[in-house]
Amino acid sequence: MHAAKWFVAGAGPAGIVVVGLLLDLGVEPKDIVWADPEFNVGRIGQYYQTVPGNTKTSLYIDFMRACKTFQECDSPAMQELYTYELTQEYPLSIIVKPLQDITNYMRTKVSAYQSSLTGLEFSADMWHVELADGSEFEVERVVLATGSHPKSLHYSECSQEIPLDVALNKEALAQYITPEDTVAVVGSAHSAVLVLKFLSELPVGRIINFYKKPLVYTQDMGGWLLYSSSGLKGIAAEWAQKVLEKNPPCNLVRLFNSEKARQAWLPLCSKIVYAAGYERNPIPGCKPDMAYDTHTGKIAPGLFGIGIAFPEVIVDPAGNVEHKIGLNSFMQHALDMLPVWSRGSHLGKMEKLYTFNKFEELLDIHVL
Ligand SMILES: Cc1cc2nc3c(=O)[nH]c(=O)nc-3n(C[C@H](O)[C@H](O)[C@H](O)COP(=O)(O)OP(=O)(O)OC[C@H]3O[C@@H](n4cnc5c(N)ncnc54)[C@H](O)[C@@H]3O)c2cc1C
Repeated sequence: MHAAKWFVAGAGPAGIVVVGLLLDLGVEPKDIVWADPEFNVGRIGQYYQTVPGNTKTSLYIDFMRACKTFQECDSPAMQELYTYELTQEYPLSIIVKPLQDITNYMRTKVSAYQSSLTGLEFSADMWHVELADGSEFEVERVVLATGSHPKSLHYSECSQEIPLDVALNKEALAQYITPEDTVAVVGSAHSAVLVLKFLSELPVGRIINFYKKPLVYTQDMGGWLLYSSSGLKGIAAEWAQKVLEKNPPCNLVRLFNSEKARQAWLPLCSKIVYAAGYERNPIPGCKPDMAYDTHTGKIAPGLFGIGIAFPEVIVDPAGNVEHKIGLNSFMQHALDMLPVWSRGSHLGKMEKLYTFNKFEELLDIHVL
């Protein structure tokens, strides 16, 4: 059993940010345990490097500069990032590559384990953490940055699903479709629009887009952004405005996603892509719908969530609820929250007991 102050689960962008900022805050590297089965920059590293991003280079540079530890890393890919046009959006590889170098660098500093979190228990004011490789730790604080995966809606009328991770890579998508196919695309946000764009550029029979929400675009309102996270940006916004809304390809139909529309049209579809959002990756010992404080990321005393699985939620000045799922949002949230998470528990003993009993109803986490 090893003792440490912090345990960070996940080495996607959110986990990388947390480890970097903990080091910035002066936490001793030996007091940070970092675990991930892959250490390959999470889902964007594994699947989305060719996907057109929706973040301008200048924002990625702000992201990199916000963490001193990132600057210590000798990364040619980071140097290359500084050479890109500041106001342009590029494929996600431009940020994945420097983040991979940073991951490799930070793995040599902290106690890194290429393994998954498999057990979480609370006893005697400490979190007891277990990994798939059998390692065990007693830690004061746990950060879950364990990410999400695309949600499938399992419509029975069309069972041949093309995984979203495949559909977001145009070359890979081309291998899945033929000119005889009618492909359904469910959704209307960034991923759905990119898949529609790719399909419209490939030899495919017909494309049917089932949407629930109208297309919305991120707009600069002078001091704040309307639809900052949910709106279309970059290439997806440009294509949706110029092509999808004004001059759609003749083989593309858009339908409101009602049961009636699905019953009428889905049986005609030979393949389906669900671009209808992401759901949290399972975390052993925790319920899938485990609650968290959407302002602070707090799940229970000493247990915190960050990243796409536990995003900060804000209400913009127009009253829209926005889930902050971009890399810069993770950085800002971690900059704000890590000093708070680092403080000793401000809960009294009774309050702690009460909170845990309450959390125990929500979580499968064992409180001994
Ligand atoms: C198509 C698309 C385009 C996007 N474009 C942009 C963009 O341009 N700009 C931007 O800022 N954002 C963009 N995003 C959003 C952003 O990329 C994601 O929100 C972000 O990558 C999520 O990072 P994460 O670290 O929270 O999760 P993930 O990347 O999912 O990482 C989670 C990590 O946790 C690990 N893990 C899971 N379970 C365990 C466990 N039990 N124990 C240990 N480790 C575990 C996984 O192996 C993984 O490495 C885009 C997203 C998509 C889908």
